[in-house]
Amino acid sequence: MAEALPRSRMTIPYITLRHGEEPSEELAPTAQLVVRPGRLGIRYLWESREDRDVRGVLWARIPQQLDRDGRPVGAPRWAYVHPVRQRRCMLLQRCQVCGGRADRTDAGYLYLAQAPEGVTGLLRPEMFEGHETAQPPVCAVHAQEAVKRCPPLVEGHVVLRAAETRLHGVLGTRYFLHSSGAVMEVPGQDDTSAEAVPYRDAEAIRWVLATSLVRKLRGITITDLGELL
Ligand SMILES: [Zn+2]
Repeated sequence: MAEALPRSRMTIPYITLRHGEEPSEELAPTAQLVVRPGRLGIRYLWESREDRDVRGVLWARIPQQLDRDGRPVGAPRWAYVHPVRQRRCMLLQRCQVCGGRADRTDAGYLYLAQAPEGVTGLLRPEMFEGHETAQPPVCAVHAQEAVKRCPPLVEGHVVLRAAETRLHGVLGTRYFLHSSGAVMEVPGQDDTSAEAVPYRDAEAIRWVLATSLVRKLRGITITDLGELL
C-alpha cells in the first residue's frame, strides 16, 4: 500500500469544512425544524428560498467562513464537508479541491473513486456503472494531487470519466414527527454507512435535512492520470 504524503502540504479542498463553521446553538436543527402542514415533511420555522435545493429538498444551515475573494478560511476539519460548498461543486460540476471547472472531455467529467474492496485484477468500466457519489468531480491538476495525498484514494483509486451524471439524491439526517408534536432525529443513523435518499422517493426525502448532493454516474470509461497530462 502506498503512503499518503503529509496533509500539512496539501491544498485544503474547497469543500472541506473549516473550524469556525460549526452551527451555533440557535442554528441547531432540532431548535429550528417544525413539521409542514399536512405532515408533509420538515421545514424551518423561518425559511428562505436558499434553504431548499432545485428539487425542493431542505438543506442544513451551517455558516461559512470566507475571505474577501470567497475562499474558505480556517483550519480544516478533514473528515467533513461544508454542505453549501459540496452542493455548489456537485450541482455545477466544479472541482471539489479548487472550486474551478472540473476536467471534461467528450467522454465526460472526471471523477475519482476508491477502488472496490476485495477486487483483484483489472478494473472494468461495468463495475462502476450506476456508481453513486457525493464526491464532486476534479480538475486535471487536483486529480493528480488527490490520489497522492487523500488517504482513502492513496489506498487504491480509479480515475473515471462519466458521460452521464444525473442528480440522484442526497445524504443527510432523517427526521420524524414524535407523538409529542416535536420533530426528532431518527435514532441510530450512522454517517459512514449512510445511503443516499433518492429524489424519486418523494415521501422519504421530505423528512431529510440534506448535507450532501449525490450524482449517479453512467457511461463510464476508466482512464489514467497519464492521459490527463
Ligand atoms: Zn481543481
